[in-house]
Amino acid sequence: MKVLKFGGTSVGSAARMREVTKLIVDGEQKIVVLSAMSGTTNTLVEICDYLYKKNPEGAYELINVLEKKYKQHIEELYTTEVYKNKTHAFVKSIFDYLRSFTKEMFTLFEEKIILAQGEIISTNMVTNYLCEIGVKACLLPSLEYMRTDKHGEPDLPAIRENLQVLLEEHKGYEIYITQGFICRNAYGEIDNLQRGGSDYTASLIGAAIYAEEIQIWTDIDGMHNNDPRIVENTTPIRQLHFEEAAELAYFGAKILHPTCIQPAKHANIPVRLLNTMAPDAPGTLISNESEAEKIKAIAAKDNITAIKIKSGRMLLAHGFLRKVFETFESYQTSIDMVCTSEVGVSVSIDNTKYLHDIIDDLKKYGTVTVDEHMCIICVVGDLEWENLGFEAKAIEAMKDIPIRMISYGGSNYNISFLIREEDKAKALKALNTHLF
Ligand code: ASP
Ligand code: MG
Repeated sequence: MKVLKFGGTSVGSAARMREVTKLIVDGEQKIVVLSAMSGTTNTLVEICDYLYKKNPEGAYELINVLEKKYKQHIEELYTTEVYKNKTHAFVKSIFDYLRSFTKEMFTLFEEKIILAQGEIISTNMVTNYLCEIGVKACLLPSLEYMRTDKHGEPDLPAIRENLQVLLEEHKGYEIYITQGFICRNAYGEIDNLQRGGSDYTASLIGAAIYAEEIQIWTDIDGMHNNDPRIVENTTPIRQLHFEEAAELAYFGAKILHPTCIQPAKHANIPVRLLNTMAPDAPGTLISNESEAEKIKAIAAKDNITAIKIKSGRMLLAHGFLRKVFETFESYQTSIDMVCTSEVGVSVSIDNTKYLHDIIDDLKKYGTVTVDEHMCIICVVGDLEWENLGFEAKAIEAMKDIPIRMISYGGSNYNISFLIREEDKAKALKALNTHLF
């Protein structure tokens, strides 16, 4: 069985929902993961904001505006009175529920319930539409199988077991529609897999049922080999290794949630990125296979801060790196790049919430210097160390750009440069010309 995921824009209007159903109905059994209609989760976040700030009128107004939009979508989507009425009644019950929160005290617990409603509505709408046009479709409620453990991490064995039971109970349907993003936590409360988490849902379901393939449908034709906002004539990448895709997702390619492909990678299930606007385009296939001797893509990540700790005293001393890393750990700040020399170490971070405290602590171990407004440029491809010439080519492309750090050899799949943010466009273009 395949698992297909459609994001918020793909189900962003009645017309788009109808397009999605055309893509999924082909006689093959499948699980379809849907996001909330685009903009809905953001509005739900705003509603929660008003409720936290004890402004129920503000929340009320947003709820009413959103409800009006859904009434319109329902009128546009269905042709029969039966399905219009049925869906209106369901959606009204959700909005009445949302309005009930405006009178009570508001905590994270209530917030998570509110954030879950976008997916609950969109999946109900699409399932009803499929039934209206005569497709054998049913809804698999995520809250009945998607689970996180005490650490907030997905509990794959539980998910697998729950799903098996649910699928067994609902045998013989062509299409199983389910909500992305939402789940229950270890205490049985409604929770979610973080913003953008619907990709993660698809990957987890794929791993849980040992799917034949996971398809992530968006509105672009796969991952591109460079940033299309900066470089002209970028092209979609046909094939990527999971690790290449993870680097790209982390370093800027917005198309995929960075952690989401981990379950698919571990279960060895290929992930295909496809475009709802051009469904016949090949898209990008991500798998455990890598293409030898090929540079695949370039990505950039802004807002990076570099920190250098230099210490003559620590020369040849052991334990220096541990102390440095522990300092970052104690402030829950993760490090992206690391470069070391005998007398010091440079690291880069993107979360600067505790920068001042970190610098203060690091001063115990040496002289600390900080460079802000930096950018990581990441070149991804077959960069196995024994291959000749690829890293040289990348460095040659960067010859006119001041480089603060270079990281190579951490994986077989990337070389990263830390440069000034103002040099980013120049670097992306130069690499594009030299590498492709
Ligand atoms: N609706 C959720 C969000 O907007 C999850 C998703 O779309 O992936 O973050
Ligand atoms: Mg790296």
